[in-house]
Amino acid sequence: MRLNLIPLGTSAGRPTLLRGASALAVVTEGAWVLCDCGEGAQIAALRAGLSLSRLDAVLITHLHGDHFNGLPGLLGTLGLEGRQRPLVVAGPPGITALLQHLQRAGSLGTGDMEVRVLEQQGDGGEVRIEGSQFLVESRPLAHRVPTYGFRVALPLLADLKAGRPVRLADGRVVDPEGLVGPRQRGASMAYALDTVPCVSAVELGRGVDALVHEATYEDARAALAHERGHSTGVEAARIAAEAEASALVLTHFSPSVDGTALADEARAIHPRIVAAQDLAEIPL
Ligand SMILES: [Zn+2]
Repeated sequence: MRLNLIPLGTSAGRPTLLRGASALAVVTEGAWVLCDCGEGAQIAALRAGLSLSRLDAVLITHLHGDHFNGLPGLLGTLGLEGRQRPLVVAGPPGITALLQHLQRAGSLGTGDMEVRVLEQQGDGGEVRIEGSQFLVESRPLAHRVPTYGFRVALPLLADLKAGRPVRLADGRVVDPEGLVGPRQRGASMAYALDTVPCVSAVELGRGVDALVHEATYEDARAALAHERGHSTGVEAARIAAEAEASALVLTHFSPSVDGTALADEARAIHPRIVAAQDLAEIPL
């Protein structure tokens, strides 16, 4: 089982003609989770060919509008589609009250669908998504408002249960016979935005196949980045190198920066860097 990343919005603060507000689909066979839901995320998901009925969960990092404002619209669409199974929405403290307020005002239109809101608290931890193969955990990041990053992994067992041997990154093959421990991880990714460089981002990204980290500004504007609770591409590369993440995906670009140049600048620190582009799929 593999993971594919599909950036649905890679801009910071506001959408541009080429980049939507923050959103990223983490996709495996038959299911996906959405990291952040900026304005326009559901339209981008349709353009990417994703089926909304196969969405297992929405993971909201924080309640700044460019990460959240697409969620009421998405929930409304799922309600209109008559979705029967619950949708998990994980997010920071305050998200329950915010969604309840929108519900009471009639802004959500979720119909009969149950929205299971999992507010992250303290040091974060496991985010249980019943009936989903995704293994998700959260950790607090360092931004201007309460913010949580996420790690999303597939269990090795998904393949092993199906009787398929699994080839590890180092070339070893795990046979379905004789495996111990159901929580061994298969493919994995981490999602760290918005944040200044922080230890939690390293912990989330430890050994993942891809760390998706915000890179709002180029390194010359590091002071501005920190003042606004953000990171530069070079700093994201340092985090990825320390975490020994196999690849780094930069996203959340200020409309004033060139994402490709920002990735070039950071490549001296980590060799495998992709500047995310809306709808350009990244297979892990
Ligand atoms: Zn923010």
